[in-house]
Amino acid sequence: MADCLFCKIRDGAIPSKRLAESANAFAFRDIAPQAPTHVLIVPRKHLVSLAEAGAEDGALLGEMHLLAQKIANDEGLTNGYRTVLNTGRDGGQTVFHLHLHLLGGRHLAWPPG
Ligand code: 5GP
Ligand code: ZN
Repeated sequence: MADCLFCKIRDGAIPSKRLAESANAFAFRDIAPQAPTHVLIVPRKHLVSLAEAGAEDGALLGEMHLLAQKIANDEGLTNGYRTVLNTGRDGGQTVFHLHLHLLGGRHLAWPPG
């Protein structure tokens, strides 16, 4: 999608250092980290949010979570971590290309704000 930040990052039009990749997703560090580890896992396919996902995206959503698990292991997050998918404006989504946050490296409070 032409005017999408994460499509531009995918295509290299906006630079970012790839942390990890899988067949259908890639990962890079969040520009404004909320924890010592804060990584975004993004599908190569432009998908607006979880609300727009269909049955055909089930494997992709699983692949993204398993990539998050691999990165968490690589980052040494042995005490745990959190994966978050913000959906829509009430969900706190600001970039409308689906992405999974991986947060770790400190204790994360619950419930979120
Ligand atoms: P959302 O609020 O949509 O769930 O998450 C969007 C995330 O993208 C935010 O955590 C924000 O800091 C991050 N972000 C926004 N612009 C950029 C950018 O240009 N590069 C990187 N690496 N992260 C970005
Ligand atoms: Zn996009």
